Order: sequence, then structure tokens, then C-alpha cells
Amino acid sequence: MHGSHQVEKRLSLDIEAVRSCFPALEGKARGKPLVYLDNGATTQKPLCVIEAIRRLYHEGYGNVHRGVHDLSERTTQQFENARVQIAAFLNARDAREIVFVRGATEAINLVAHSYVEPRLEEGDAVLVTEMEHHSNIVPWQLVCERKGAELLVVPVRENGELDADSFRSALSDRVKFCSIAHVSNVLGTVNPIKHLVALCHEAGIPVLVDGAQAAPRMRVDVQEIGADFYAISGHKMYGPTGIGVLYGKYERLAEMIPYQGGGDMITEVRWSGSKFQAPPHRFEAGTPNIAGAIGLAAAVEYLESLGMDAVESHERDVVEYGAKLLRGMPRVRLIGDPLERAGAISFVIEGVHPHDAAALLDAEGIAVRAGHHCAQPLMERYGVPATVRASVGLYNTRSEMDALAHGLRRVLEVFP
Ligand code: PMP
Repeated sequence: MHGSHQVEKRLSLDIEAVRSCFPALEGKARGKPLVYLDNGATTQKPLCVIEAIRRLYHEGYGNVHRGVHDLSERTTQQFENARVQIAAFLNARDAREIVFVRGATEAINLVAHSYVEPRLEEGDAVLVTEMEHHSNIVPWQLVCERKGAELLVVPVRENGELDADSFRSALSDRVKFCSIAHVSNVLGTVNPIKHLVALCHEAGIPVLVDGAQAAPRMRVDVQEIGADFYAISGHKMYGPTGIGVLYGKYERLAEMIPYQGGGDMITEVRWSGSKFQAPPHRFEAGTPNIAGAIGLAAAVEYLESLGMDAVESHERDVVEYGAKLLRGMPRVRLIGDPLERAGAISFVIEGVHPHDAAALLDAEGIAVRAGHHCAQPLMERYGVPATVRASVGLYNTRSEMDALAHGLRRVLEVFP
């Protein structure tokens, strides 16, 4: 009895209870009830996250890994507990596989600098896909430029899915590293990530998965996915800004050179040279974002209390409902329409600039994003300068998708 009740509970969300945890959702935008559909950019924060940060600063806070005094010890304990909680959330084997960074961007730059660059030689290649965010393109361009290597790109098909054949045939001996999004921030495509990682590994190529858009909306099991590295951003998963995580298999992290130098990442500093800490501290120079890590642990605890399966199935229902509404609208064209979609729906409207559409929706209290979404090469692929993007979070509802469709009908009236 008890077991079946639990299963039932974990596959659905009590959406009213969920929404009441997010004070920002009760607010107004342009004097209208807020419909927040820009979760791909960043998410609102639940009370438990706000409270965790308030409590830290209110009840006494010290720097980590430094003092022997009570406040420092207590804060260090909370900070390291956060690492353990996040390791469990991602099902990492060991908390030492969790490196605190500023966000997915820094996680990717860290790997590019400390793992890939020292191993890359002239004529080698790094492989990415056409659907990557700039933060999973530019670090590789910089490294390739420095080393005389080439950045290869797997194309995206018209429906927003990766071309599987091109992916397989791109895995040549020249490719020394592959970096792929788990979920596209523009198209919403969920890549068959476990399969792609396995293909890379069969070819002897280590892989980083950019999980910035996946971790907030589906269960991520890094051991099951098997990637060497997995990058996430706290602010996109209901946690604070300025904190993220690089997961790395311990054996990979252990063979990496330091990233930034400074306090806390060393065991010994002499004029003749310094010795470095083992991972993860080797990669955490200086005072870390302590409140960020503790806030992110609170966000992760919140997500676990809801159940990631429930979050995923709720979001899927809302996003698929929204995509269906948009598909049925005149002059609205979805950009990519993948079979497996999570989070985002991008579209253009014939005769209306995306920024005009977003501004008109904003006047109705509906927050969407218009622009290139930090994915200019993908915009080029589809021959558009920008799209409108609606992206859902765990607190969105079908009726908010109805509000979006209603707002878009107004846009069509204004631009006949
Ligand atoms: N990758 C993807 C897929 C993203 O959507 C984003 C943020 N839009 C990033 C990486 C970068 O994340 P951050 O700006 O938090 O470092």
C-alpha cells in the first residue's frame, strides 16, 4: 500500500503547493499576473533556497577550509555537505568528483584548459554539435586556435535532432575530445546522450556533456550516462546565481593540471615551486561561492523532495501541450520539432520580428526570450537571425501555455 502511494506521489506534482514555494511567481509583470516562460535563461527561487542563504548569513558564517574557530568549522561542514548532496543528486561515485565552479560556462572552460589543451596537438580535432550554446563553442575555438587544432561540428537535422550518421562518421582518429549538450537550450532537443557517449568511448574519445538544461528537468545519473565530465549551472535549477558544478570522473580530474592558482588549491607554496591539492580542491582556488554552494544544495534537496521523475513528466506535459498549441497557430513556425523535447520551444512568426513579439507578450505579463539564445551558429543553420523562445520550469502550467497562445493571437492582430 505504502509503496504504491509513493510511486503515485512521485509521478505528479501538486502544482499549487509547488507554486506557493516560489514567492516571485505571485508577483506582477507590467501590472499583469506574471507568466514566467524564460526558465531556459534562469529560474525563480523557492523559499527553501532563499531561507538557506539567509540562515547562513544570519546565524554566523566564516570562510571555509581555513579557520579552526567554530564559525569557520560550521561553514566548512555545510559547504562540504553541499558537495555530498550534489554528488548524490547526480549519482556520482564520490563527492570528490564534484568541483564547484561559477556555472556551466566555467566548468567547460576548466576542462578545455586543464584537460584538453595539454593533450591536444596540431592537426587534432575537437567535436561539438551545431546545437551548442556559445559556452560550449567558444572555449573550444580558443583552445583549437592555440593548438592549431580543428573544431568539427555535427549537423542538426531540420527537425532539431542530431544527424546520427554524421555523428558516427565524425568520430575519427583525429578527434581527441567531444563536447555535447544533453538538452538544447533553443530547440528543446533531448539528445540520446548515453548512446552518444558510448559511441565516443568506443572510438576512445573522452566526452563532456553540457547538462545546463538537463539537470533542472530530468533525472541525471552521471554513472549511467558514463560521460567523463558533466557541467551544470545552479541558477538554471532553482539555485543561486554564480555557482555551478563540474562533475568529472575522479581518474580524469586526478590527471588534470590546475586551472586557476591561489589559496586553498595548494598543499605547499615555496619560491622554488608549489604543490597542489588533490581534486576537487585543486580546481577551487580562492574563497569559493560558499552561500552559492549551500543554496544549490537546498535547491537539489527541493528537487529531490518533488522527485525528478515527477518534475520531468509534469514539464513534458506542459511543454508538449504548448508545442501543440503553437503548431496549430497560423504564421507560427516552430524551429525544430524533435521527438524528445524538454524545456524549450523556439518559434518564429511570419511578418513579426521576434523582439516585437516578445515586447507585446511582455506587455501582457508574459516573459519569453527573443534573440539568438547564445546559439548564433544554430540560428544560421535555420536561416533566422533570432527566435522567440518559451521555456518551461517545474512550476509552469497548461493554463500558462494557453495564456501564451492568447498573447500570440494578440501579436498576430497587431501585425496582420
Ligand atoms: N549551456 C547551455 C545549454 C545553456 O543553456 C547555458 C545557459 N543559457 C549555458 C551552457 C551557460 O550557462 P551559464 O551561463 O550559467 O554558465
